[in-house]
Amino acid sequence: MARPEFDLTTIYDDVVRRNPGEVDFAQAVREVLGSLGPVLNKHPEFARSKIIQRICEPERQVIFRIPWQDDTGEIHINRGFRVEFNSALGPYKGGLRFHPSVVLDTVKFLGFEQTFKNALTGMPLGGGKGGADFDPKERSDDEVMRFCQSMMTELYRHLGEYTDVPAGDMGVGTREIGWLFGQYKRITNRYESGVLTGKGLDWGGSLVRKEATGYGVAIFAEEMLRASGTGLDGATVVVSGAGNVAIYAIEKVQQMGGLVVACSDSGGTLHDPSGIDLDVVKRCKEVERTSLAAYAHERPTASYGPAPLWEVPCDVALPCATQNELDHVAAKQLLSNGCRAVAEGANMPCTPDAVALLLEAGVLFGPGKAANAGGVATSALEMQQNASRDSWTFAHTEEKLDEIMVTIHRTCHETAEEYGSAGNYVAGANIAGFTKVAHAMASFGLI
Ligand code: GLU
Repeated sequence: MARPEFDLTTIYDDVVRRNPGEVDFAQAVREVLGSLGPVLNKHPEFARSKIIQRICEPERQVIFRIPWQDDTGEIHINRGFRVEFNSALGPYKGGLRFHPSVVLDTVKFLGFEQTFKNALTGMPLGGGKGGADFDPKERSDDEVMRFCQSMMTELYRHLGEYTDVPAGDMGVGTREIGWLFGQYKRITNRYESGVLTGKGLDWGGSLVRKEATGYGVAIFAEEMLRASGTGLDGATVVVSGAGNVAIYAIEKVQQMGGLVVACSDSGGTLHDPSGIDLDVVKRCKEVERTSLAAYAHERPTASYGPAPLWEVPCDVALPCATQNELDHVAAKQLLSNGCRAVAEGANMPCTPDAVALLLEAGVLFGPGKAANAGGVATSALEMQQNASRDSWTFAHTEEKLDEIMVTIHRTCHETAEEYGSAGNYVAGANIAGFTKVAHAMASFGLI
């Protein structure tokens, strides 16, 4: 048999060749494959049965037309995607992203990451992702509703609580899930609560789901810090973004005694050395849907402008905005300011050279597939409640989320140690997620 290193390089080169131009997908694959050498040494059967090559190929990819009319009657055509990546551990599970930048590459990288993230949660979830190149910004409620209805008119045939269960992602929150669920119910004539997660609390949603991704990131950061003898209490923290993940990461960090001094939106960085007032951020983003500039107008301690967020000195950085937002320049800046820990709230927000710099410098680094798994884990709790026609209290659900995040941290920590990369959560997360999926796939034979 060929040397594992050789195998992995060949597999990666093949992925690049067969998926031309898909740079984000290639980046995500490279990052996982980079950790798998020791796994192949221990499990040569995975190489023989070509499990890695199979894992890199989505089980199914659906691309479809989404026509819709705006309020003036003009017709628009968007492109919809659902990449059903892997169903070894359960139905395909992962969010829908509405953003003008969405192309197949985006959805494939997200679906690939999701497969391992979902495995790490310990819940029965396969991996998938979807979305559309639709820009919800500046669109009226009616327009977004018509878009969601048109999208679901095709998407519904691929979904089902035992088949594929979408949720939200960037640009998709409870409002959009409501319109998608309404159309699914109408077309199928089934009140199938478990077909979507992130639902409203009155119609099958779970308490804590909204907060879960952000809370989970803070819990993961706390666990990494605790394992090295400190914690978030008294730490200065910067959080990129001001969306759902960022808002609830800030909330949890504040509950844990950390001081969050900066966050950001697409227009700039908000710096408030006295500590971010989260009520004001929530009002700007969740109610008024406006820029963070409004925050700086009402709080004299704050400034809002184009200066990069990562220049703000901090002990802990939580990138919660989007992929590749934290590059090697930002990583160097964080290091020179004495940053001790970085946990990824977004999917793949740190570039590979940024990750390499941080790891080399001994910064605690929590990769997204572990650190931001709280959202999808709570989606699984929502599915549990739907299946048993039950609804749990906030405290009970939060306790479960807490337990799951602590377990994910422990799994990554112990797996890294077992495979000779102590302290490297990237290796721990990749290996633990991969081996779980690979063992299940091996049990099913060649499918
Ligand atoms: N979009 C979220 C993620 O990246 C949540 C997915 C879900 O709940 O299915 O994990």
